[in-house]
Amino acid sequence: MGFGGGIGGFAIGPSSVQSNAEAGLPFAELPDDFLERIDKVLEKEPEHPDPKISFSHSKWERSPFTLKTFLSSHVLLLCLALLLVVLESGLQHLGPLLTQIAIDEGIASKNTQVLLITCICYVASIVISAGVSFVRTSFTGRLGEKLVYKLRIRVFTHLQRQSFSFFTNEKAGVLMTRMTSDIESLTVLFQEGLVNFAVQIITLLVITTYLIVLNPHLALISLLLVIPINIILTLWFRKVSIFGYLAVRDKIADILSNLSESLAGMRVITAFNQRKHRSEIHDKITISHFEANLYTGRAQALFGPGTESIGIITQATILFVGGNMVLKNELSIGELTAFILFLTSFFAPIQSLVQLYNQYQQGSASIEKLRNLLSTIPSVCEKENAIEMPKLTGCVELKSVDFNYEKNKPVLSNIDLKIESGEVLALVGPTGAGKSTIAKLISRFYDPDSGQVLIDGHDLRDVQLESLRRQVAVVPQEPFLFNGSIKENIIFARPDANEKDIEKACEAAGLTDLINRLPNGVDSPVHERGASLSAGERQLLALARAFLCQPQLLILDEATSNLDLLSESLIEIALDNLLDGRTAIIVAHRIATAMRADRIAVVDNGSILEIGTHRELVASKGKYATMYKTWTDQGGMESDQL
Ligand code: ADP
Repeated sequence: MGFGGGIGGFAIGPSSVQSNAEAGLPFAELPDDFLERIDKVLEKEPEHPDPKISFSHSKWERSPFTLKTFLSSHVLLLCLALLLVVLESGLQHLGPLLTQIAIDEGIASKNTQVLLITCICYVASIVISAGVSFVRTSFTGRLGEKLVYKLRIRVFTHLQRQSFSFFTNEKAGVLMTRMTSDIESLTVLFQEGLVNFAVQIITLLVITTYLIVLNPHLALISLLLVIPINIILTLWFRKVSIFGYLAVRDKIADILSNLSESLAGMRVITAFNQRKHRSEIHDKITISHFEANLYTGRAQALFGPGTESIGIITQATILFVGGNMVLKNELSIGELTAFILFLTSFFAPIQSLVQLYNQYQQGSASIEKLRNLLSTIPSVCEKENAIEMPKLTGCVELKSVDFNYEKNKPVLSNIDLKIESGEVLALVGPTGAGKSTIAKLISRFYDPDSGQVLIDGHDLRDVQLESLRRQVAVVPQEPFLFNGSIKENIIFARPDANEKDIEKACEAAGLTDLINRLPNGVDSPVHERGASLSAGERQLLALARAFLCQPQLLILDEATSNLDLLSESLIEIALDNLLDGRTAIIVAHRIATAMRADRIAVVDNGSILEIGTHRELVASKGKYATMYKTWTDQGGMESDQL
C-alpha cells in the first residue's frame, strides 16, 4: 500500500470493489447500460470555471450593506426585469377593457364581428402574456439566484477575513444562520419580490387612473374608503412585524447555535449523561422560536384579512351606489361591470403589496442582521501599503509588548524577548500564564496593544499577512483535521505539493507505519475533525502538514500534551525532523520537551520571569529549577507534566 493514487483522485473511503475483494467476494462488473446512463448523467453535468474570488486583507467593500448599495451594481438587470413584469401585467390587465368593449360594442350593439374580434384579442393577450410570463420568471429567477450567490460569497469571504477575536465572540451557530436562513429569506425578495413590488405600485397607479377616467364619482368613493385605512394598517404592521421578524431571526440563530454545539460536544454530552437535558434545553429554545413565529403570524393574520375586508366593503358600496346610478340612467351596465372588474384588479395589486410588504419586512430583518455582520472590521488587518515579507531567516523579537483580550484585564505586560534565527525556545509556566498568547502574537493572530512584534526586523503590522503566514507554520494544541483523506489534510498546507513531498512529510512525521496499516493508505478518510484517528495520530498528521510547508519559523502550542509514551516518543522524533535548522517557539507542557530546547523562558502572570538554557536556569535556582526538581523527585519521565 502506501502512497498510491494521484493527487487529484482522492478516495473518500474504501470502494465497494475493494471491500468485496477484501471480503473475498468476486466483483460483479457494472452492467453496460448502467455505465451508459452514468456517462449521460456526467455529460449533462454543468462545467463551472475556476472561481475568481477577490480576497484582500486591506481592501474590501466597506459601505454599509443595504438593499440599495447591494442592488446598485445590478440596476440595468433590475430595470429589464421590471420591463418584463410591466409587459406581463399590462397584458393580463387587458381583460376588463376587452370585456367592456365586448359588452357595450358587441353584445349591446348586437355586433358579432366586434364580439368575435374582442374574444380573439382576449385569447391572444392571454397567450402572449403566458409567453412573457415564462421569459420573466426565468429571468427574475436567475437574477435572484445571482444576487443570492453574490451575497453568499461576500458573507463567506468576510468571515474568512475576520480576526480571532471575532470568532471568540461570535457563536458558530449564529454565523451559520446568517449564511443559511438569513440569506435564504432574501432569495424570494431578490427573485420576485422587489420587481413585483415596483410593478404592483405601477399597476395600482394605472388602474386608479382608469377608474378615475371611467367614473370619477365612483373612483373617489373607492379611494376614500381604501387609502386611509390601508395606510393606518400598513404603518401598524410595519412597526409590529419588524420587531417580530428580528426576534424570529435571533431565535433561529439560537436554535442553530445550540444544534452545532450539541453535535460538536456529543462525546461530552454522552459521557456526562446529558442527552435528555440537552433535549430539554433545545426544547426551550425551539419554543421561543415557535412563539416568535406565532407573534408574527398573528400580525399577518390581522394585516392580510384586514386589507381584504376593506376591499369587499368597498366593492359592496360601489355595487350599491353604481347600481343606483344605472337605475337612474346615469351609468351604462357595461360601464358598471367594467368599473367593478377594474375594482377587482385594483384590489389584486393591493393584496399582492400586502404579501410583498410582509416578505419585505422579513427580508429587512435579515438585511439588518447581515448589515451588522458585514460591518465588523477585523482587528488584525493589513495596511494598504503593507510590504511583502522577504524570505525569513526566522529572527523573532518582542519589544515592550503589552496585550489584553478584554479591556482592563492585562494578559501580557512589558514582554521583551529575542529568539535568534534557528533557535528553539520553549515557553514554560503555569496554565493561564500567557504562553499561548505570546505564540499567538508571533503568528499575528492578534496585535499587541503596545510594543512591537518583529520578525527579521519587520514589524508584523507592516507586512502582508499572506506573505507572513506562508512562511510560518503553526501546530495548535488540538490539531484541526478536515473531513477528507489523510493526504487531503496534509496537502492542505500546500495544495501544489507533489506525491514525493507528501511522502517525505509523512516519513518525517513518522506517519508511514499508520499509513501502511490503513486499507487505503494515504487516501484513507480521517472523518470530521479527525474522529477516526487517535490524539497522537492527529498530532503526527499536523506535524506532517507543518513539515510540508517547509516553514522557517514554527510555532507549536502544547503539541506534546496528553499522549501515551509511544506516541510521545514518535512525536519527539517527528519534532526533531521538523525543527532541524528552523526557528521554533514551543509552548511546552513537559520538562522533557523544554529540556530539548536551546533556551527556556519561564512565563508567569503575563511576564517573563526567567530565560536561559536548561543548565543556566537549573543553576540559578529559580522557578524553573523548582519545577525541574519536582519532576526529578517524582521520577522524571513517568510524571513529567508541568
Ligand atoms: P497559557 O497558554 O499560559 O496557559 P494563555 O495564553 O492561553 O495561557 O492565556 C492567558 C490568559 O488569557 C488566561 O487568563 C486566559 O483565560 C486568557 N485568555 C486566553 N484566551 C482568551 C480569549 N480568547 N479571550 C479572553 N481571554 C483569554
